[in-house]
Amino acid sequence: MNTRTHYDVAIIGAGMSGLAAGIRLAHFGKRVCIFERHNVAGGLNSFYSIDGRKFDVGLHAMTNFVRPGVKGTPLTKLLRQLRIDRDELALCEQKQSRIAFGPRGETSLRFTNDFAVLTAEVAEKFPMQIDGFRRLVAIMRAYDDVSLDAQPESARAVVRSHLTDPLLEEMLFCPVMYYGSASEHDMEFGQFVIMFKALFLEGFSRPFEGVRLVIRVLLEKYRAAGGERRMKCGVQRIITEAERATALVLDDGTEVTADHVISSIGAPETEILVQLGRGANSAADKPPANVGQLSFVETITVLNGQPANFGWGGDTIIFFNDSPHFHYERCTGQVDTRSGVICFPNNFDFGPKRSLSEGIFRVTCLADYAHWANLSEDHYRADKLRWFTAVQRSARRFLPAVDDAALAAATLTTDMFTPRTITKFTGHFGGAIYGSPIKHRQGRTALSNLYLCGTDQGFLGIVGAMLSGISMANYHILQKG
Ligand SMILES: Cc1cc2nc3c(=O)[nH]c(=O)nc-3n(C[C@H](O)[C@H](O)[C@H](O)COP(=O)(O)OP(=O)(O)OC[C@H]3O[C@@H](n4cnc5c(N)ncnc54)[C@H](O)[C@@H]3O)c2cc1C
Repeated sequence: MNTRTHYDVAIIGAGMSGLAAGIRLAHFGKRVCIFERHNVAGGLNSFYSIDGRKFDVGLHAMTNFVRPGVKGTPLTKLLRQLRIDRDELALCEQKQSRIAFGPRGETSLRFTNDFAVLTAEVAEKFPMQIDGFRRLVAIMRAYDDVSLDAQPESARAVVRSHLTDPLLEEMLFCPVMYYGSASEHDMEFGQFVIMFKALFLEGFSRPFEGVRLVIRVLLEKYRAAGGERRMKCGVQRIITEAERATALVLDDGTEVTADHVISSIGAPETEILVQLGRGANSAADKPPANVGQLSFVETITVLNGQPANFGWGGDTIIFFNDSPHFHYERCTGQVDTRSGVICFPNNFDFGPKRSLSEGIFRVTCLADYAHWANLSEDHYRADKLRWFTAVQRSARRFLPAVDDAALAAATLTTDMFTPRTITKFTGHFGGAIYGSPIKHRQGRTALSNLYLCGTDQGFLGIVGAMLSGISMANYHILQKG
């Protein structure tokens, strides 16, 4: 007798995209189960605790913010499709952010959730470029970035056909690439448009409680709709027959079957599960192609007061780069401190008399997985300490000066995550934060009933990942009955 459990849809991974796909399918009565290797949901956007203090892994800011009443945007679409009331997320807007280039950020562009601020900054700092900038923005506004059939073209080429000042070009690419490019140097234009709209035309927000609230809302919706979830229950391999996925073998050796499988773990990572199901002994039998090369470190400093006490109260996010040329590439050493992203989660507008109880100062820089992957525990710890100091020192060049001793005295605790942490939280090969440079817009794989969602489908960030889960569930399963 066959005692294997059968589902209409099995989803691999309880990150933002897997949860969103699960909610959508469960709402339409599908028998759906999400299999997650970790003991917490959220994937890249999760959290961990040290000495009782919770640290967010991902969330700097939710991109794609629009105010109530604005229709037809990614945020409104995802709230509608997941039946989430805006108030449940209680999003608080950023104060202001900036892009700062030069040894101490001498050239800067401020932006807020009001796009007119960035336009005015470009007009003031780059007066010869403002007409081209307006033309470029008009093209991006009209671009159908959610089309699943978009033809790839170089974002650099399109941008250069409107802007002639290389400094402005680099300043616009810096935030867009840091928040969503799996490719070095250049991006696919459709990806660039998605991220440009998400960051600049829409904007940044955050729930007061951070990512934990988003995860809690998603889990409640999923449970209420009847979805099943199996945590600490990874998928070890995918069994195939005649170009279809027929069963999933779980880490505990049990098998489940499903009519459809949606994988949120990345294209090369999914391909390896299929190879393993076909008898490969390990991923080393056939190293995966198209693994991403870009990874990050992030330092987290917890302060005993608000960042404003140091004069750091004005900016929510600062994208910095210490020269006119921005190098978004796999770094040759362990960490590249020339550029990075500073985030002050305290500096969202949480309303009068409401502030996070502790100050948080986060800095992200590019890092190379290979330099971190095989260190002994002792070396790993020592390197984290060494790079923590270097990363923080680099970022502070772009902030009002603060005495080292005063900062040390105000620091309650610190932590740092590395490319190794990213692989731990997501399973992504190479600590590749944004997955493979090759995206699969239609979410198809070589198997007719196995689809991709999330990072390697091509919609990035928290909102993008959720939209990806929704679109793949709609496109491959719900619209086909
Ligand atoms: C440091 C950092 C900062 C970020 N900041 C922001 C931000 O400020 N704003 C923003 O919008 N976005 C941000 N992002 C990006 C955002 O987190 C991701 O784009 C998004 O969370 C990706 O979701 P996903 O569902 O596609 O994939 P993932 O989050 O990678 O989820 C995949 C899940 O699959 C699980 N899994 C892997 N292998 C298996 C297996 N074999 N079996 C079962 N389960 C498996 C993993 O454990 C994971 O839970 C950030 C990311 C990082 C790393």
